[in-house]
Amino acid sequence: MKDLAAYIRDVPDFPKKGIVFKDITPLLGDAGAFAGTVAALAAPFEGRGVSKVVAAEARGFVFGAGVALRLGAGFVPARKPKKLPWKHREAKFELEYGTDSLAIHEDAVSPGENVLLVDDLIATGGTMAAVARLVEDAGGKVVGCAFAIELSFLNGRARLGGYEVHSLIKYDAP
Ligand code: AMP
Repeated sequence: MKDLAAYIRDVPDFPKKGIVFKDITPLLGDAGAFAGTVAALAAPFEGRGVSKVVAAEARGFVFGAGVALRLGAGFVPARKPKKLPWKHREAKFELEYGTDSLAIHEDAVSPGENVLLVDDLIATGGTMAAVARLVEDAGGKVVGCAFAIELSFLNGRARLGGYEVHSLIKYDAP
């Protein structure tokens, strides 16, 4: 397996001062690193009856779709509410750099379905906690959460206390 961290580019002060943005585009641009990341994200959840993968707009879609294909699961986009054309449920949350909300269509997750949550990165954990609320409000069962990158120093895992959380690349400091 490639050293995935070597494909993450640190961009200081983006999108605002004090944030070190983890740019995943070098990783996505390398066929082996991209495929290896998707395979590693899916690995802990193989054979566990996952029937839907839910991922957050927009970078989460890139990994989430790949993971869904590997697991033989459907894919559900969690999007900014105004982007969804059909009836949806919405959850608000705080970001490391702002406030936001995400939504899924009312019929995207069925009661009792096993759902895996995927995103490119966990910072404070607010985004994924909101996605988990959306899934559980729909009656879905959250099997776990998978992230390519974890900013461990922000302790986002604490926000996802009840869930199994896996991440591939961990940063102990900004
Ligand atoms: P959080 O809700 O605080 O866990 O933030 C996670 C979401 O914000 C993910 O969808 C990331 O894409 C994005 N994000 C937060 N902090 C960063 C960062 N330092 N670099 C890149 N993306 C980030």
